[in-house]
Amino acid sequence: MKEKVQELWAKRPLIISGPCSAETEEQMIETAVQLAATGKIDMLRAGIWKPRTRPGMFEGVGVKGLPWLAQAKKITGLPTTVEVATAKQVEDALSFDVDVLWIGARTTVNPFSVQEVADALRGVDIPVLIKNPINPDIELWMGAVERIEKAGIKQVGLIHRGFSSYGNTEYRNAPMWHLAIEMKRRNPGMLLICDPSHISGRRDILQAVSQQAINLDYDGLMIESHIDPDAAWSDAKQQITPAVLADLLAGIEWRKEDTNSPEFHAALEKLRQQINHLDDELMQIISQRMKVAEQIGQYKKENNITILQTNRWNEILERAYQKGESLKLSREFMTKYYDAVHMESITHQNKIMNS
Ligand code: PEP
Ligand code: MN
Repeated sequence: MKEKVQELWAKRPLIISGPCSAETEEQMIETAVQLAATGKIDMLRAGIWKPRTRPGMFEGVGVKGLPWLAQAKKITGLPTTVEVATAKQVEDALSFDVDVLWIGARTTVNPFSVQEVADALRGVDIPVLIKNPINPDIELWMGAVERIEKAGIKQVGLIHRGFSSYGNTEYRNAPMWHLAIEMKRRNPGMLLICDPSHISGRRDILQAVSQQAINLDYDGLMIESHIDPDAAWSDAKQQITPAVLADLLAGIEWRKEDTNSPEFHAALEKLRQQINHLDDELMQIISQRMKVAEQIGQYKKENNITILQTNRWNEILERAYQKGESLKLSREFMTKYYDAVHMESITHQNKIMNS
């Protein structure tokens, strides 16, 4: 099984599925059998210990679920993965031959816990997947990767499961794709898997979120599945049956990062040169804009006027939204862009004021 798992690390796409939680022996095994029958699944997942937000919720079946998972592996031939958060859980998972461990979002946030898991893994040869922390802090995610790598683990992978945010949004956990993209940039070649289940929190957008991940060159997906999703003891709203999962996977346009076609490369190269050219022009123009801002700063200084003029700032934003709309630039982008440009202007004007 070790070699099989090693090979899976290079398989694209890598598909992991199984219930949010192992609930009963029957549910675990029946889900695994149905998943294996689709022929589209590479690895079985199940939560054995569940870190729940509030006490009194179902906190996982604990160690007694591990033999069920071992049995599911025996029947289907599929390797297994389980979430671990403590040294004891690592020890238990290893003693029941779990093939891959994963660190959950609520553990990645806590360096003490990650270090405890890392110490328990010293000298152990097992792959580890690390979910992003619940808060959008890429350094914590990096820190967890470093702690696990320092313990000597050779196969480390990333799972992007979205970030918790206050208030209601379309998602259960905002994807903030840019953070996962930055993580991928910082860890070239490291396996990156998307967990659309915890990003979505609901079934109707699972497909779209999965497709988005594949469009962004993710290496695989981890999707929760259950033989009777509505009756699941945890995360009922986001789980799907193995049959629905098979349909979802069949509906995805699988993309690859590269192709050998010279025509494709020539066309892409031409367009990329255009982009470089436009980016250069944009920078020139922004630099000119800063020079004008500096002149304004000089006048403000001579007349003892504050840098920030709220009315003017509102006027700039309103203009930008209107213009942006006619140019097909989203309000969200215009806000981010103008925030950045405005802050840079303020920095330039501050320099003038203080000179
Ligand atoms: C899970 O995979 O069921 C889970 C608890 O995920 P997360 O750590 O991403 O919340
Ligand atoms: Mn879950």
